Amino acid sequence: MDTFIAPTDRADLLRTAVNQAVDFLRDGEVVALPAETVYGLAADAMNPAAVARIFEAKERPSFDPLIVHLPHRKRLADVAVVPAEIAETVNLLIEKFWPGPLTLVLPKHESVPEAVTGGLPTVAVRMSSHPVFKAVVTSFGGPLAAPSANRFGRISPTSAGAVMKELEGRIPLILDGGACPEGLESTIIRIIPSEKGKPVFRILRAGPVTKDDLQPYGKIEWGNGQPDKKGQVAPPEVPGQLPSHYAPRTPLRLVENPDHFLPEEGKRYALLSYRGDAEDGYLDLTEWEHVLVLSPGSGKLPEAALRLFHCLRALDELEVDEIIAEPVPLREVGMAIMERLRRASYL
Ligand code: AMP
Ligand code: MG
Repeated sequence: MDTFIAPTDRADLLRTAVNQAVDFLRDGEVVALPAETVYGLAADAMNPAAVARIFEAKERPSFDPLIVHLPHRKRLADVAVVPAEIAETVNLLIEKFWPGPLTLVLPKHESVPEAVTGGLPTVAVRMSSHPVFKAVVTSFGGPLAAPSANRFGRISPTSAGAVMKELEGRIPLILDGGACPEGLESTIIRIIPSEKGKPVFRILRAGPVTKDDLQPYGKIEWGNGQPDKKGQVAPPEVPGQLPSHYAPRTPLRLVENPDHFLPEEGKRYALLSYRGDAEDGYLDLTEWEHVLVLSPGSGKLPEAALRLFHCLRALDELEVDEIIAEPVPLREVGMAIMERLRRASYL
């Protein structure tokens, strides 16, 4: 199969690309779409044969459930049954964060195929804010299942070119929406009602919507599989949050202070540095053969988030013996960056 990249940077091109994508989706095919998070591989969520093609293209194990993207807030009831005790909170979160990178895990509606939820009684739902994704899902008019458009366990793509490298020959179409503005997969939460006071939000995957963003609306609890304050990670409670994920082919090691790193004779290294904030300390980069800096413009943690997967991919292509990564501060979206780096470094 030939894989085409369709540009979307002019109104007429966008219209053509959206129509092509919707035609493929109606035929039960998969297409790659830009989201504000990373590029997604979309299929008709209500068509099990179409959903099966996502798993096939990604080589993803069938127990790993997919996120469902809605065309409109009002369509939530098509895919989820919201329990009365959390209905008010769900509405509030939707009002506040949709469209955007917050995924809610809710009891599933019976019409959602098991292939989407990996046999779980729950479904993960969100709405993308990316104009291209929005145009496709609204024109399609129904929910789309869309995991990241990479082969299973690999680095999520944040550009059309990166999708091409992952899935060329396996999918017919990639809509090119440029670089993804957030650069990390959505935050996933489960809402646990509490008898008195605010509900509990259990963060199942850290992402662009941070603990501080959610705190006004509920009590935060870190799900297993998330790094605690000391950076320790307990086994995940949901399928798909495997310890080894987002992994470059090159072994990656997190080194607390790369200034003190002692290279092994004859080995080639590349450094992934942070340098977002002077107060976090600057590294001496002169000793390194290859360096990429996550926040060169001092856009700090948000800049580091949007550059993370791009930098990991670029370093991976150097074919050095090892990538040495400097930890980023464990605050704001740094929590989500560290989660990815930890999984990438799991050997
Ligand atoms: P992505 O690869 O970005 O599509 O994210 C999919 C991930 O969402 C899965 O690997 C799971 O960790 C999580 N997920 C999807 N559905 C559920 C669910 N019903 N319950 C808990 N987590 C889920
Ligand atoms: Mg993924």
